[in-house]
Amino acid sequence: MASRRKIVAGNWKMNLDRAQGRALAAAVAGRRGEAAAAELVLCPTAVSLDAVGTALGAAKSDVALGAQNAHDKASGAFTGEVAPAMLVDLGCRYVILGHSERRTLFGETDASVNAKTKAALAAGLVPIVCVGETLEEREAGRTAAVVESQVKGSLAGLSPADLGKVVVAYEPVWAIGTGKVATPEQAQEVHAHIRRLLGELSSPGVADTIRIQYGGSVKPDNAADLAAQPDIDGALVGGASLKADDFLAIAAAFARA
Ligand code: PEP
Repeated sequence: MASRRKIVAGNWKMNLDRAQGRALAAAVAGRRGEAAAAELVLCPTAVSLDAVGTALGAAKSDVALGAQNAHDKASGAFTGEVAPAMLVDLGCRYVILGHSERRTLFGETDASVNAKTKAALAAGLVPIVCVGETLEEREAGRTAAVVESQVKGSLAGLSPADLGKVVVAYEPVWAIGTGKVATPEQAQEVHAHIRRLLGELSSPGVADTIRIQYGGSVKPDNAADLAAQPDIDGALVGGASLKADDFLAIAAAFARA
């Protein structure tokens, strides 16, 4: 099995102003050593990317900057949108794509996530591509099929080399922001399925190197059990990423795993 460096990302969503973002980034950067073995990513709202990136730079930190969305075009008449190269210009290394909130509230589809993923890769960003089933889909026994069509649709047409650069986040919709976390066994089962699908899209060797994060109510008290699963390579953290103590405790649990 390839050794995959754990990656823990904080999705701040539409929270925190610039001063709050700078303060949280400085706190995480200052205590980064508590999770030294893991890669850490902070994803503030777009208007705070500059401030948070500057704070991370001032701390001489290797904590990476990530955006929460990007457009698939390089420039043009797309009011309110941000191009991947603009995110690179702000110092972003990562971009979250296809988060369930983008899919359900803003009409994103596997096809649009696919276009964004290709554009992000072309600009030199690492996409964190989110997939996950709703409660209704899980209860209908459709989890594997839903995740398969999302993975194959969102990552269609990528070369094995590009696929190898992607991070996949499995985020069961019913677990996001609800306090209901998937059991480690439920999450591991889907992660192993996603890795098999990634192998079909590239090769088992490439799939073995791709990091698959779990997201959905990850907290300090459940992180270690999730991190102990063989195919869970990190976490995409929403609510708990807004507190330095909680985010670092989660990151430390993955760093130890
Ligand atoms: C998320 O939005 O990506 C997420 C996982 O949120 P939470 O941790 O709050 O469930």
